Amino acid sequence: MSNEDDYLAERLAVLAEAELDTRAVRAGQVRTAEGEHSEPIFTTSSYVFASAAEAAARFSGEQAGNVYSRYTNPTVRTFEERIAALEGGEMAVATSSGMAAILSTCMALLSAGDHIVCSRSVFGTTTVLLNKFMAKLGVETTFVAPTDYEGWHAALRPETKLLLVETPSNPLADIVDIARLAAMSKEQGSHLVVDNCFCTPALQTPLALGADIVVHSATKYLDGQGRCVGGAVVGRAEQMEEVLGFIRSAGPSMSPFNAWVFLKGLETLRLRMEAHSANALALAQWLSEQKGIDKVYYAGLPEHPGHQLAKQQQRAFGGVLSFEVAGGRDAAWRFIDATRLVSITANLGDAKTTIVHPGTTTHGRLTPEQRAESGIGDNLIRVAVGLEAVEDLKRDMQRGLDAL
Ligand SMILES: *Cc1c(COP(=O)(O)O)cnc(C)c1O
Repeated sequence: MSNEDDYLAERLAVLAEAELDTRAVRAGQVRTAEGEHSEPIFTTSSYVFASAAEAAARFSGEQAGNVYSRYTNPTVRTFEERIAALEGGEMAVATSSGMAAILSTCMALLSAGDHIVCSRSVFGTTTVLLNKFMAKLGVETTFVAPTDYEGWHAALRPETKLLLVETPSNPLADIVDIARLAAMSKEQGSHLVVDNCFCTPALQTPLALGADIVVHSATKYLDGQGRCVGGAVVGRAEQMEEVLGFIRSAGPSMSPFNAWVFLKGLETLRLRMEAHSANALALAQWLSEQKGIDKVYYAGLPEHPGHQLAKQQQRAFGGVLSFEVAGGRDAAWRFIDATRLVSITANLGDAKTTIVHPGTTTHGRLTPEQRAESGIGDNLIRVAVGLEAVEDLKRDMQRGLDAL
């Protein structure tokens, strides 16, 4: 081994033992001969070989290395290694969006006739993907209440191959016991997939709790400033090679530019997640004391049914909260329309605070009965708390309260 190889091997060993903050800043970077300090963006679709023989060896897989950016790209690889290091997974595969991460996981692991059990409180488009498109391919899904463990168990069938959950749930912040579902999944011989979008590895590492696979919408907190759409799948190498195989053949790959933006986002992830969480906790406490607010849903509040579990399972409570205003849909809309600082949009995971009426937007496709079953009232408002000064956010919420 050359001195340079020794140096690289020693650096890798140091990083393997490093804490989360260090991995978030350093993992995955391999400097080029230019000696750049910041990670470069490799905007190249293909790669050049030294000879025809090398080209043949790369194409056959005999020799490791880049061939084409639909499969591998150095900037994307740096992002993959960094998110794998943060989640504590053997390998990560980057995707063009969070939905592509979920689709690629399903396509890699499932065949016609297989069955999925999914929390009914997952991202709306996930429900559409499973109900409409996976069903078309012969994969059926049963939806269960997120914290009804008997319900999860009762939904299992011999052909159940995948359990899918989000915790905290959206928008009511139900906290699901990942270790408990992991044990159930193991007994069943299925894969537990956790969508870790709301917590990110800064607050929660599902693989350490027994989950098999983590999926991400990098679009949210991993970016953190609402610039790019992307996703990731993290887990054991054996399954991730299958996911990569699907990406390679189907093409929902991450662009190198987006990978670079997410890399920069990861460097500040923990600091941001703690600030989001601190702002959300302060706002949740304040809202719960205001006249005109019937109920606040945030696991950081001691009265929330998931409070104790969230304290065990998460390092902080996250940035998303919901609340019910006194009145119905009209009151909720008046509250939202009276704000002047926060943004009326369904996105989350941004430095900018967002506010939305779930019943007529993110959960508008559900029937009134399904909404009632999921506890999403007409008077419910969701706020994804950003990084503005919390006093200004309170003043903006006061404008909403004054309009009730
Ligand atoms: C946004 C989101 C997704 C989908 O991600 P995209 O990047 O928009 O495709 C999946 N899961 C959760 C929890 C999300 O919030």
